[in-house]
Amino acid sequence: KMTQPHQREKVNILVTGTPGVGKTSFCEKLGQDLGFEVLNIGEIVKENQLYSSFDNEYKSYILDEDQLLDFIEDRMNSKEGGIIVDHHGCDFFPERYFNIVIVLRCNNTVLFDRLEKRGYSEKKITENIECEIFSTILEEAKESYAEHRVFELVNETEEEQLENLQKVKNLISKWEEDK
Ligand code: ADP
Ligand code: MN
Repeated sequence: KMTQPHQREKVNILVTGTPGVGKTSFCEKLGQDLGFEVLNIGEIVKENQLYSSFDNEYKSYILDEDQLLDFIEDRMNSKEGGIIVDHHGCDFFPERYFNIVIVLRCNNTVLFDRLEKRGYSEKKITENIECEIFSTILEEAKESYAEHRVFELVNETEEEQLENLQKVKNLISKWEEDK
């Protein structure tokens, strides 16, 4: 009953990476271009109160993984597919959820500016920059998903975003041909 990646009619895509690398902007465009549904995990967690607590120091909700997975399971398990998931972590989703895992990347100075504009505290900025420098999310993705499904894309400029959109569309076309 659990839908495996090759059984889907359309691919499911995970877009992950450190906060500020451009996931949400990228997912919105990709979703529009492909007519895919986008699940912004942070927003779903907030709207549906799928958190276990609020971290006052970081001013953010601690999501409850079991509650979240219950909440999205039917959609992620559908044979139709065509879902884009936007989240900064990736190790707690079942591997079978995704055909393609995109890890967006950004250099320090660009990331710093984006996080500062967002009004993040110095501590939160530093932690996120370190997360990016140490390729934490890329390593997490490689540990959690088959390596042939994981793609690292630099996403520092508008031009690169356009190139990346095209790269993902090419990956989808290739998947459809191989199917
Ligand atoms: P995330 O969802 O990963 O936290 P966002 O999509 O919210 O990142 O983007 C963070 C900021 O960076 C936003 O102000 C957004 O407009 C900007 N941004 C995102 N992608 C790019 C890009 N490729 N080039 C320039 N600016 C970008
Ligand atoms: Mn986002």
